Amino acid sequence: LDILAQSDAAIAGLINDELQRQRDHLELIASENFTSAAVLAAQGSVLTNKYAEGLPGKRYYGGCEYVDKIEQLAIDRAKQLFGAAHANVQPHSGAQANFAVFLTLLEPGDTIMGMDLSHGGHLTHGSPVNVSGKWFKVCHYGVNPETEQLDYDQIRELALQHRPKLLICGYSAYPRIIDFAKFRQIADEVGAYLLADIAHIAGLVATGLHPDPIPHCHVVTTTTHKTLRGPRGGLILTGDPEMGKKLDKSVFPGTQGGPLEHVIAGKAVAFGEALKSDFKVYSAQVIDNAHALATQLQNRGLKIVSNGTDNHLMLVDLRCINMTGKEADRLVSEVNITANKNTVPFDPQSPFVTSGLRLGTPAMTTRGMGTKEFVEIANIISDRLHNPQDESIAQDCRQRVAALCAAFPLYPHITTSVPA
Ligand code: PLP
Repeated sequence: LDILAQSDAAIAGLINDELQRQRDHLELIASENFTSAAVLAAQGSVLTNKYAEGLPGKRYYGGCEYVDKIEQLAIDRAKQLFGAAHANVQPHSGAQANFAVFLTLLEPGDTIMGMDLSHGGHLTHGSPVNVSGKWFKVCHYGVNPETEQLDYDQIRELALQHRPKLLICGYSAYPRIIDFAKFRQIADEVGAYLLADIAHIAGLVATGLHPDPIPHCHVVTTTTHKTLRGPRGGLILTGDPEMGKKLDKSVFPGTQGGPLEHVIAGKAVAFGEALKSDFKVYSAQVIDNAHALATQLQNRGLKIVSNGTDNHLMLVDLRCINMTGKEADRLVSEVNITANKNTVPFDPQSPFVTSGLRLGTPAMTTRGMGTKEFVEIANIISDRLHNPQDESIAQDCRQRVAALCAAFPLYPHITTSVPA
């Protein structure tokens, strides 16, 4: 940051502020994580200067001999990590990855079926404000009102009724295991393609801590920056090499121009890290921590959607304490905890207000926290939410957050010299 501070003090100062914010807050947004310093270095490299439209060995630009090797390493590592026959590492984001799949498999006017946004689905799975909802007919499934979990009989019935060309599983706010084999049975019965969007659970899938979608799905998409702990970006995987060739064309030239080779280098580094045994230890800790957090929140009288979690995230249903997600989001952020308001299944509130708070463990697990710390985090959150008006409790919560952050430093090697 020294060079940046000399040439652009305003931006350097704001980056420094953001670094301090990340250091001083408990980061519980389920879709965020802290990449390694090696991933940061790859992304901040000279690769950002290079145009490389095309694929390794088949580029439309000269001078690609080194980025070819980098992108090929990213592809090979992604294939190894997920046991996939084909990988495309170029999507700029998870949304771009999904868009490329739609271009490959669908025509405008076709029917797609994914989970309702308000039950935990993603915008790109058919929301009316997204291209997926504007260009395709959409039929949504939700969770069972009693169990708040996937109801495969209901999904099958809806699929038989609407006959989608594409069935989508994989979610943004679903805390339970997904049975990909059951989804494939349903897809086969109605002649649909099956897409698993494992954006949230990719790190758990890669380490075998969540069932594997590759053998069951025609295509798998993911982001690389959530549980997988890489740079912000997307990835497309398939077990079918012929499908892979079509997907490649849909990424470029179908929906993107030049790939971001600096980000692809960051992906290669992150995949390499995820292939090491300590990433499995980390991922198992993410799940243990989520279990500890959910259990202690329940012990403290808060309701957890579906009564628990199998993965890295959970949804607190705040209707039991007569509070909205918006209010809870504000209350925890005032004591330096970052989370996000989220709809709960069958939410009576609007998406801007909501009745839920989504919490996840990947980021603070990266900082080294274990179940003991997550029990303390649950206690801090409970103390704050049960006593919204009490400023002395708020002050106590802030001090406990500060103590946790100090005990688990973030990027200690990064020093800044921002001019005053
Ligand atoms: N798919 C799912 C299930 C997600 O949760 C997300 C992001 O939250 C995305 C896709 C989109 O990823 P991006 O924000 O990188 O476009």
